[in-house]
Amino acid sequence: MIETCATVRVIEGLHTRPAAQMAKLMKKFGCHIELVYRGKTASAKSSVKLMLLQVKEGEDVVIRAEGDEAQEALDHLVSCLGDPQFGMNMDQAPTVVVADEAPAAPTQSDNGSVVHVCEGLKGIAGSRGTALGPAHIYLPQKLIAPRQVIAKEEISSELDRLRFALAGLESKLSKQSAGQTAGPAAQQDRAILLALIEVAQDEEYVGAIIRGIEAQGDAGAVTLRVGEVLAATFAAMTDDYMRARAEDIRGVTRQLAAALLGQALPDLASVPPGSVLVANDLSAWEFLKVPIANVNGLVCIGGAATSHVAIMARTYGIPAVLGLPLSEAQLQSIQYLAVDGDHGEVIVNPSEAQKTQYQARIQAQAQTRKGLSAYRDIHPTTKDGRQIDIAANLGSLGEIELAHKVGAKGVGLFRTELLFMQGRHLPLEDEQTTVYHQLATAFHPHPVIIRTLDIGGDKPVAGIDFPREENPFLGWRGVRMCLDRPEIFKPQLRALLRAAVAGNIKVMIPMISDVNEVHRVRELVAQCEAELNREGVDCAPFELGIMIETPAAVLQADALAAEVSFFSIGTNDLTQYVMATDRANAQIASLYRTEHPAVMKAIELTCEAAKRAGIWVGICGEAAANPDLIPQFIAMGVTELSMSPASILSSKKIISEL
Ligand code: PEP
Ligand code: MG
Repeated sequence: MIETCATVRVIEGLHTRPAAQMAKLMKKFGCHIELVYRGKTASAKSSVKLMLLQVKEGEDVVIRAEGDEAQEALDHLVSCLGDPQFGMNMDQAPTVVVADEAPAAPTQSDNGSVVHVCEGLKGIAGSRGTALGPAHIYLPQKLIAPRQVIAKEEISSELDRLRFALAGLESKLSKQSAGQTAGPAAQQDRAILLALIEVAQDEEYVGAIIRGIEAQGDAGAVTLRVGEVLAATFAAMTDDYMRARAEDIRGVTRQLAAALLGQALPDLASVPPGSVLVANDLSAWEFLKVPIANVNGLVCIGGAATSHVAIMARTYGIPAVLGLPLSEAQLQSIQYLAVDGDHGEVIVNPSEAQKTQYQARIQAQAQTRKGLSAYRDIHPTTKDGRQIDIAANLGSLGEIELAHKVGAKGVGLFRTELLFMQGRHLPLEDEQTTVYHQLATAFHPHPVIIRTLDIGGDKPVAGIDFPREENPFLGWRGVRMCLDRPEIFKPQLRALLRAAVAGNIKVMIPMISDVNEVHRVRELVAQCEAELNREGVDCAPFELGIMIETPAAVLQADALAAEVSFFSIGTNDLTQYVMATDRANAQIASLYRTEHPAVMKAIELTCEAAKRAGIWVGICGEAAANPDLIPQFIAMGVTELSMSPASILSSKKIISEL
């Protein structure tokens, strides 16, 4: 046995990707090799065990190896642990596209077990569009093993059954993974599949099942037990990302146990063309098995506008209504569905007349989409000659193509949060520079407005410790957090200054509520610029603007306008703060109205202050695409509207006809 000590330099420690890659490399050596950390030991050949050690960056571990190639394996492991980037180059973290539609209010449910014909139900608008089709009900039942114990003579055949089931599962997952095409959604799918294959091959997981069978346990029963214990261990971890691995373990366990118990799982792969998929909830793992082209619409009891299933439905453009107030028993009785993803409404078992109505709407939507394409290259001008810039709200580079397709005139809001949320560590200055520069180049010469990090305790980010707050929306978020944490804010400002050499980058600060905040941001920008100049790094100045999202900013708009180059009104937050109405609370959704006179007055005051100071004003909240409000905004003096790419063509049309 040989032994050595090493310090872990891997960024963020041994989380999923480094652990998976390390286990894969170590399996190539014939020896036994293990890591000891804080009194706990894990085989270096098991990614699950390595993850469970929860070794943090900068901590010391002991490595022990014994047997063939022990020295080689040990040296190799030491060098992996010493590499900060180790494991970072496996499949990238998923790119998540978050659409911006606000959820509609759910209403009360019917408590009976059958949903009557033509019943109209209200849930949460998860993904836009209208759909119609026969229901494909997906309600997986709990798997139960009929026997727990086997006879001694059965152990060997039971182990064979396990090996057979594992091989079948691995080959199925590998085939699925190999079949993934390009694109951000497929990349996300592949990353999930690879994680599942890892679990199915894991020494800790499979080893525990084998030991259970050797102790005369039924293969199916043991699998269910081992999977639940392991999933519960992950679910109890403090790290959000690790907790999410519980879902991977449960997904694999279900597949494996079903094969061993000879029970068929409801088959998502066989959803017939033209269906509306109906489920209690769909995990990411389940969603991957659905033949997307066959799904007209999606309806779930669970889920909210920002849940995984909603994000995926929007990524694939499937109209979806979530959070439907129905029981599982009621779901079973559904035969046919009409889905209105714009308003979060569902008609169960619609009448022929209702079907015809929905059919007409679907056709009209398709027709409208076709007709609107004529506006792609139009720079809309009102009949009295005012040109309005229609820009895109984006959250990732993956969405650039969508914006180009509809002829966005630049980017009016690039939310940098995703960049900070998707990784296991804060994005480095170089990484940020590359992203911002690519974005700017993609839209050159049109302006690209990048918003500095706007994040709070409601959306935690790996690498920032947010305190627990009673009211995170009134708490330490956006520019408030950034100003307190220059070690996070300055790399972003430096990256923006470096990317600004592209010539079309503007920067905007969210959640401003005091003039002093603008002064402090400017001081930091000046500091960063001086540092970059001293270091001889290429950079360029950018125009600085602010978002108007708080009543305080509206009431000091004259003073703020004197300090910045532009205003962009964030109506999503402005509405919530003016109306004292949580934008995510469906119960008070009737008060959350941008068209309320109080909010419209705040917008008008902002526009007047901008006019007096001679700066331009835009709108980047959801209301920017509201056909009823666009004429009023333009009348107030707004010259730029920024919105999700899906709304750009119709908004161009509205303005051209004003
Ligand atoms: C807004 O508040 O209107 C806005 C655009 O910002 P977000 O929706 O990202 O808070
Ligand atoms: Mg906002």
